[in-house]
Amino acid sequence: MNSFEDNYRHKGLRQKMVNQLRSEGFDDERVLAALNEVPRHIFLDSSFVEYAYSDQPFSIGSGQTISQPSTVAMQSKLLKVDSGMKVLEIGTGSGYQACVLAAMGAKVFTIERQRNLYFRTKEILEALPFRVKAFLGDGYEGLPNYSPFDRVIITAGAPCIPPKLVEQLKPEGIMVIPMDDAKGGQTMVRITKKTDGSLEREEFGSFKFVPMLTGTGND
Ligand code: SAH
Repeated sequence: MNSFEDNYRHKGLRQKMVNQLRSEGFDDERVLAALNEVPRHIFLDSSFVEYAYSDQPFSIGSGQTISQPSTVAMQSKLLKVDSGMKVLEIGTGSGYQACVLAAMGAKVFTIERQRNLYFRTKEILEALPFRVKAFLGDGYEGLPNYSPFDRVIITAGAPCIPPKLVEQLKPEGIMVIPMDDAKGGQTMVRITKKTDGSLEREEFGSFKFVPMLTGTGND
């Protein structure tokens, strides 16, 4: 069960989480302000409030996880989001990352491939005041009808750079994508699409994500 209450205790825990990230050296204040705004506990079952604001990933059912706050912070920073930008997220999961980007002023379009998770999260997103439009589908296909996007963020471990997502990215657009490494984890990669269509690639360390799968399902 999800409770939509956001009381002083929740706000205090959230502020503590933000202070912790800052003290560990995370320096993007716009991202920190968004993390302070989005009630992370609402995306977890209400019996897990204690865990909601600690820096760890957490199971959200259907074998999926809500990314840990430091990972959400990192991906949000690398994405260089400005207010009013159109952002496509692959892997809605809990909906938390999408709301953080929306709290930074982005218009977020997010795709989830798991039916159960999509319906569960859609309900939560509709109850919250963030500008997020959720879709059930295969992220490899993107959302051609809503393209082009200023930014694309992938929140599952990707075996390749999905060509259709590159097509749907504007010139000078940025994609942040955790790419499978040879050791069962991922390297965080930032792709910038140049005006001539070429791709610039930068790398930002190792992470661990659930896999980006094809098609839709309930597995
Ligand atoms: N952004 C999420 C974390 C998601 S975990 C959050 O903030 O909570 C990764 C999610 O990607 C899972 O829910 C998984 O089902 C989904 N996923 C995996 N492959 C996908 C694909 N091809 N298209 C869309 N979603 C996908």
